[in-house]
Amino acid sequence: NLNMTEDKTATEDFQAGKYAEAVEKYSALINATPNFSSYYLKRGQCYLKSNKYKEALQDAQKASSLGEKSMELAMLGGKVATKLQMYEEAYRFYKIGVELDNTNTDLVEGLRNLQQAILDEYELEGGEDAEKGYSAVDFCSQDPYPGDDKLLQIEQKILENKHNIQDTIPWKDYKDGGEFRGQASEAAIEAHSLMVAGKLEEAVQKFTFAIETEPNNAILRRLRSEAYYIMDDKINSLRDLWAIPKNQRRVEVWRLGGQIFHDLNLPLHAELWFKNATRLTDGKDEGVKILFQRTRIQRLYAPLCNNLAINVEFSDFGKCVVAKKAIKEGEELFTEKPLIMGQVMDKDNNFALSCDNCAASILTAEDYFGSTLETMEPDLKELIRESWPDIPTVACDKCQKVKYCSEDCRRQAWVSQHELICPARSEATKKLHEISQNLGHGVAEDGVWKNLWDAHFSPLFLARVWSSIISAAKHMMKESDGSVPTAEQWAKARSPFRKFMAFGNSSAADSMPTILNLIREIFKDCGDGVQYKITDNEFNGRYFQAVCNLQTFSSPITPYHRFMTRVSKLGAEDTRGMRMLKYLQTTPHLNTYCGLFQLQSCLNHSCTNNVQVSDAEVEGYGGVKVVAKADIKKGDELFTTYIDTSMPRRLRRAWLFRSFNFWCHCHRCEFEGDGPEVCTECQKKAENNSLFLACGQCHRAWYCSVPCQKSAWRRGHRKICRKTKSSTDAAANQDSIELSNKEPEK
Ligand SMILES: [Zn+2]
Ligand SMILES: [Zn+2]
Ligand SMILES: [Zn+2]
Ligand SMILES: [Zn+2]
Ligand SMILES: [Zn+2]
Repeated sequence: NLNMTEDKTATEDFQAGKYAEAVEKYSALINATPNFSSYYLKRGQCYLKSNKYKEALQDAQKASSLGEKSMELAMLGGKVATKLQMYEEAYRFYKIGVELDNTNTDLVEGLRNLQQAILDEYELEGGEDAEKGYSAVDFCSQDPYPGDDKLLQIEQKILENKHNIQDTIPWKDYKDGGEFRGQASEAAIEAHSLMVAGKLEEAVQKFTFAIETEPNNAILRRLRSEAYYIMDDKINSLRDLWAIPKNQRRVEVWRLGGQIFHDLNLPLHAELWFKNATRLTDGKDEGVKILFQRTRIQRLYAPLCNNLAINVEFSDFGKCVVAKKAIKEGEELFTEKPLIMGQVMDKDNNFALSCDNCAASILTAEDYFGSTLETMEPDLKELIRESWPDIPTVACDKCQKVKYCSEDCRRQAWVSQHELICPARSEATKKLHEISQNLGHGVAEDGVWKNLWDAHFSPLFLARVWSSIISAAKHMMKESDGSVPTAEQWAKARSPFRKFMAFGNSSAADSMPTILNLIREIFKDCGDGVQYKITDNEFNGRYFQAVCNLQTFSSPITPYHRFMTRVSKLGAEDTRGMRMLKYLQTTPHLNTYCGLFQLQSCLNHSCTNNVQVSDAEVEGYGGVKVVAKADIKKGDELFTTYIDTSMPRRLRRAWLFRSFNFWCHCHRCEFEGDGPEVCTECQKKAENNSLFLACGQCHRAWYCSVPCQKSAWRRGHRKICRKTKSSTDAAANQDSIELSNKEPEK
């Protein structure tokens, strides 16, 4: 009781702005009841008001350790940790709030401030939306795919024929149960207690009695359905849900139905039902949206993963690749051809030396040996003539500029995308090719020569995306004798690209207007009366699709490699092999391309990646292969890396944040520090110009004390602690002091 009056006067002090007095009172209360989290929380709020951030954070942490999980705590911890530039800690607190109510306006504001603080520290440009990616599901639409209606009809037939569930079960004419109504509700109450007690069969019997008396009671139907579901009788469970008229189905009904359809492998129905649940909750129920995406991702990717050791799934953070079974280090997990490819903006790329359709090298002996070919011994020249692969290089017959490895590739490229963007087609296509060759430079609208393009991939890549969409739609239009592509045909043509997430926080349309205008000009008239208008939105979307998903690759086996193989097989008595070697010293440069890969693009990032993406030849095309870098357990997620992981943490994070809009929370980032000024484990700051000691082995974590080092080691540092090799690390760590050369106790 004393506490209550003290608490009340402290609150009054707080409201009156007398923070020092309030702190005193809360301190007394804490002394009296040290395990009551709300006093720490309130005292912390007083400290925050009087700008004592360190004390405020300590109180927030104490309240959190006592199990406090309120929005107030999230806001207090988030705000003060942001002020103290302890961004992970701030994020940890705000996450409490995100789990409670991610639409809370104060919370959204707090997150925005946190993000701005991070951006300011790294001097990065950022928009308001920079990390709106907190909710991955919001980036995934629930729009149907073209053809879904037909699949739905097929599922309908399965429901009718296999499960005997008809499209419409008439809701029986309403009969007032009259004198039986009392009995029905009694039975329902009994049934419910039986259900709670786990006596499901008896519960079902009672529910059945109640339903017979009151056949049109949706609640009874739903309850019996739940009982059946727990009994794993999915069909009967579904029958009850199905019997409830659509306008009476509540969120629980749609959600449970979706779940059952998912379990029965009827994904189109599952999506439809989850979509209805989403609609009824105004999209606020994250759980239901995640269920929807799980179903959708499974149906889109399961066919691609049929014979592989991996699956694509949907986690809280979006798509991810998961091991279906245990994987051994070195195992090849899959190879993949790009859905569409383009050039990388790289001055060393000589584009004419690769096929513009399949990325295969078209390096000739003349290209490789240059003038030495003239002065070579005649028998060696003969060897080259015999053994250097003969590549029937063909150029586009319209522009003569773009080259292919075969007539097949030329034809394929023409039909799938080159026709609309051949440099010979218009002034605009010619100019776009020139800008690409000049690595993004060209004459802008104002007549000034400048950099017009800001990406590592050629703007022609984007043009190819539209070109392939339009070509596909036109092709379908002609097949169906139409005069313009139908909405369905457009949707089908676009659908392969829907697999690739797009996310960015700036406007490419605003920053690259010359390229946008050129691309608009190119597709304004696509022949056969077909026009395509590119909106700013679509331009931004496709640009970020490329930024977020493109993977660079090369076709690794060149004519040079094939020639080498042949030369190495010459018998020992043939001296040409030995004499040839001196001319084969330099490995030719591999042209680098970038491509959109359906499976590879689902791999998420970690600074301790467990898979490696490398170049591969796939069915004669350039592509990628994904190989395990370590043993991977069944159910574990597979991670690639988007960056050079030899960078220190601060740089890695800034880089990832700037390029991919996320703040890395991988295992390694969690157990590495930024420098000797802050204890990596307890976040304590070093004082009086003294610095903390580094982990003697990896030099990437700093500790205030041996207990902190040991605790970090136990919690997970041991999993990421490796001897550092690269020079960047040495530079980053030159000011640190070794703690010990011995490994800490395990
Ligand atoms: Zn080719
Ligand atoms: Zn051409
Ligand atoms: Zn990381
Ligand atoms: Zn410490
Ligand atoms: Zn270490």
